[in-house]
Amino acid sequence: MNHMHASIPELPVFPEGTGLKKTKQRELIYSILAQADTPLNAQDIYQKLLMNPECTGSYAVSTVYRVLLAFEEKKLVTQTTMPGSEMAYYELNRGHRHYATCLSCHKRIPLEHCPFEHQILPDMKNSDFTITGHRLELYGYCKDCNISEKN
Ligand SMILES: [Zn+2]
Ligand SMILES: [Zn+2]
Repeated sequence: MNHMHASIPELPVFPEGTGLKKTKQRELIYSILAQADTPLNAQDIYQKLLMNPECTGSYAVSTVYRVLLAFEEKKLVTQTTMPGSEMAYYELNRGHRHYATCLSCHKRIPLEHCPFEHQILPDMKNSDFTITGHRLELYGYCKDCNISEKN
């Protein structure tokens, strides 16, 4: 297929073996998260869900929250916050990614490497503390915003 903007994208495979039964809702919400390149809040996900042609049932935002909660419990998604917002944002747990977030335009630039992976995580392996996850977010100003500030 050469249609780069095909309106019905292929559903990413809903992961097996998580203990979560595959339902259409969960599958749709999972695929929305899988296709997003920035974290989404429940309202964003709900809007995308309503626009999805495969979404036939009548859903409420509370359904989205319930699914997200189940995903979070099974570590399929991680919850994150954005500066200046109290809303929870969700992204798929893709073996974690760290971001530098621009405080001016809110662009999120993914870091290529995990700053913990070589030093801190191996060091902690020999300690009594069992790490199940970590978070790190950098804040600052991106190139575009730096330039407009100087002018
Ligand atoms: Zn910026
Ligand atoms: Zn990391």
